[in-house]
Amino acid sequence: ELILAIESSCDETSVAIVKNGSTILTNIIASQIKSHERFGGVVPEVASRHHVEQIGYCIQDALEEADVSPEELAAVAVTKGPGLVGALLIGITAAKAFAWANDLPLIGVNHMAGHICAARFVTEVTYPAMALLVSGGHTELVYLPAEGVYEIIGETRDDAAGEAYDKVGRVLGLTYPSGKKIDELAHKGKDTYHFPRAMLNDDTYDFSFSGLKSSFINLVHNAQQRQEELDQVNLAASFQASVVDVLVTKTIRACQEFPVQQLIVAGGVAANQGLRERLAETIKTTLPNVELIFPPLKLCGDNAAMIGSAASIERKKGHFADLALNAEPSLAFERYEK
Ligand code: ATP
Ligand code: MG
Ligand code: FE
Repeated sequence: ELILAIESSCDETSVAIVKNGSTILTNIIASQIKSHERFGGVVPEVASRHHVEQIGYCIQDALEEADVSPEELAAVAVTKGPGLVGALLIGITAAKAFAWANDLPLIGVNHMAGHICAARFVTEVTYPAMALLVSGGHTELVYLPAEGVYEIIGETRDDAAGEAYDKVGRVLGLTYPSGKKIDELAHKGKDTYHFPRAMLNDDTYDFSFSGLKSSFINLVHNAQQRQEELDQVNLAASFQASVVDVLVTKTIRACQEFPVQQLIVAGGVAANQGLRERLAETIKTTLPNVELIFPPLKLCGDNAAMIGSAASIERKKGHFADLALNAEPSLAFERYEK
């Protein structure tokens, strides 16, 4: 089974060809970061224009690089949401045209299911499983009772973890996106500023990062006004310690309460070294029977291979779309109910 997958929900135009949901033949990623950097974030109109320019070349390159002809494909998959509506529509339109021209079935994929399915390139996922989904727009604990079923048990009430990294990075004068840069600084410092850890001990699996962001920004602004020097490296380390503490504590609790054998960490922030280290240590000592799965760094950020993998599950379930497929900018998983 070969699936050609397209991802264009944000600022990466990506086309992949995936075999049987778990092998990547090619995964072309055209990043637009250079164009958005100077604005300090993704500008939707600029993103759409880049997708239009890139999508045709990416499809062509993917077929050439994988040495696959359209007749050999089983389906065309595309991210239908969540994401920027204009950006999503470029991928969706290209996918429809390609599917129609080559008489192939079309599959619409939830971008967040895609992030989770990046784990399938590492090992087989066994159910029930838990996923910690940490990205630029989402922070969620997702329970997977069975293949292709995604249920939110907790989520952020305000900022996503990646968003907090990017906003704090801006205050430190780092370029967008700043998650990786803060992660690197954090490794050289210590938690000396002791920022708050919101909702750490409440009885939900929800998160909140806007208070942490505000304390960080206030501390830096007040110091600037008093012309005081703050320690950049310790600031980064303190911020990261707070984020990682909350993520790890709640995730471990979720894995204790739900009957899971695997924990998948996914999304752009899953690339965070501090999070990887702390989770690995904590799982080893408190839940040695839970298998911890991190996608390779390259597959944590947005890419079409993960969309192809999620699509393979949808195909198995007979979930196909037609040419009326539309973008769903606010698409979200259902909430878990006991
Ligand atoms: P979503 O998937 O929620 O729609 P998105 O696709 O924009 O949002 P991703 O591409 O999954 O998000 O992740 C990008 C985010 O990951 C950015 O906020 C970036 O700062 C963050 N990030 C990347 N690497 C790291 C890292 N090492 N540590 C922390 N954050 C990181
Ligand atoms: Mg991106
Ligand atoms: Fe994403």
